[in-house]
Amino acid sequence: MMPIQLNVSTMLERAELLFPRKTVISRTLHQVHRLTYKEIGERTRRLSSMLAKLGVEPGDRVGTFGWNHHRHLEAYFAVPGLGAVIHMINIRLSPEHIVYIINHAQDKVLLVDEDLLPLFEKLKDHLPTVKAYIVMSDSTEVASSSLEPLYSYEALLAEGDPKFQFKKDIDEYSPAGLCFTSATTGNPKGVEYTHRALVLHSLAIGLADTLALSESDVCMPVVPMFHVNAWGLPYAATWFGSSQVLPGPRFTPEILAELIAGEKVTVTAGVPTIWLGLYNVLSQGRYDTGSLRAVVCGGSAAPVSLIRSYEDKLGIPFYHAYGMTETTPLVTVARLKSYQENLSREEQLELRAKQGVLVPGLEMRVLGANGDVKWDGQEMGELLLRGPWIAKEYYKDDTSAHVFDDGWLHTGDIATVDPEGFIKLVDRTKDLIKSGGEWISSVDLENAIIDHEAVFEAAVVAVPSEQWAERPVACVVLKEEYKGRVAKEDILNFIAPKFPKWWLPDDVIFMDEIPKTSVGKFLKRKLREQLKYHLTKPV
Ligand code: AMP
Repeated sequence: MMPIQLNVSTMLERAELLFPRKTVISRTLHQVHRLTYKEIGERTRRLSSMLAKLGVEPGDRVGTFGWNHHRHLEAYFAVPGLGAVIHMINIRLSPEHIVYIINHAQDKVLLVDEDLLPLFEKLKDHLPTVKAYIVMSDSTEVASSSLEPLYSYEALLAEGDPKFQFKKDIDEYSPAGLCFTSATTGNPKGVEYTHRALVLHSLAIGLADTLALSESDVCMPVVPMFHVNAWGLPYAATWFGSSQVLPGPRFTPEILAELIAGEKVTVTAGVPTIWLGLYNVLSQGRYDTGSLRAVVCGGSAAPVSLIRSYEDKLGIPFYHAYGMTETTPLVTVARLKSYQENLSREEQLELRAKQGVLVPGLEMRVLGANGDVKWDGQEMGELLLRGPWIAKEYYKDDTSAHVFDDGWLHTGDIATVDPEGFIKLVDRTKDLIKSGGEWISSVDLENAIIDHEAVFEAAVVAVPSEQWAERPVACVVLKEEYKGRVAKEDILNFIAPKFPKWWLPDDVIFMDEIPKTSVGKFLKRKLREQLKYHLTKPV
């Protein structure tokens, strides 16, 4: 066969050629834009040409600091189209981490949303590699700013070449994108995505047994474009000619509901907190969500109660998926096998709340203390992964080489595998609770607690115990209307039938809020620190 290199820009070229009339709907600070793929293609070429004029060369890094909108989508293609690397910066990282990752990546040019620009005025003296800033806004005027030099995105595009040719001879193993993990300890670690990985990952998203993304879809990635390539959806959707809805800055559940109903969104994807918030709005029945064929939920475990609410109360199919920054990200999707459709509803829900089955193209192992675990749904071990869209190293950082031992990515996620191959994450290695030599899954306890009607959020963490080494303690946020009306015993009695006695938390602490990471996951390290002050004596 022909040794054709897989390249990111060919995905956009297909949309330009075959789907020039299909649209991208993009919400920015001031308006909702509607652009065709013909327009997106021309604008992307203009951007590439102007980045080249600003001195961006193959291999250089160009940072983006923005929400989900059409300009960010254009950068997704314009930068790799030059053979350069798009570094999608997580806008929710701390200023220290933002400075660290820009310097570590040595970003040459930064594209920044207008509402996020003030941050860089404070950081600019710490960013020696940045040679130019480009402000992404609807205006061609540049706001007065101490950033130098500062260009208007639209003014640059006006000067650009709409027929600019993307670089053709790019080695498919060369990097196209860069994201950093959202570090709960130490500095964030970079993961470089090759052209090959992004293209193959896009194919995987289109498979009927994964997300089945296709031309007929209207795809709305709610997951940020600065978080693992928005789970690869903008690339795949462009390639397949799907319509896209990019929900823009500071959206609310109401804005998402309006976009779903107004644009007839068919597929949307995001983390559980987004879907919890949206459920509250949709359950009031004011929006027509009949177009939705899949809400994809990942990033943290999707509680059974959430799946049940969407499917049984709203009639919206809800899919649980799993991945990480190091995996581009799609690894598993929880879809039933054909013969599992005969199971009872409760049995089906139990399976679908697992992280699911490995997507084609990847390999996995689950490694326990005594080698590969039995596929019995009981034995726990660390999930190891291999495949064409799995990272083999961190970007210019060998402090965590053990993560990639023996040619496998050691995910740090502890899982069981059932006889059908469904993996279920029981914890992060560092969050597992080791009590009296046995492991307790904090995730299982959390899922059981969140099923209680009064509970809004729950996180279970280990606290030191003289007798048992560690014991679980539950931190619970009650729904407003239940505050002060629910006791610890109510929660413990509610979950008791589901667990052996020694699994039950030693304490339940009611809180106003659970500390979260920049991408909305429980920050258990901080919670453990906070608990030190709550607990007067070790349990
Ligand atoms: P990130 O690199 O920020 O996307 O975080 C990846 C980590 O999030 C994984 O290693 C898991 O610990 C967690 N994660 C992602 N998806 C899920 C899921 N569906 N269920 C439980 N945890 C998940």
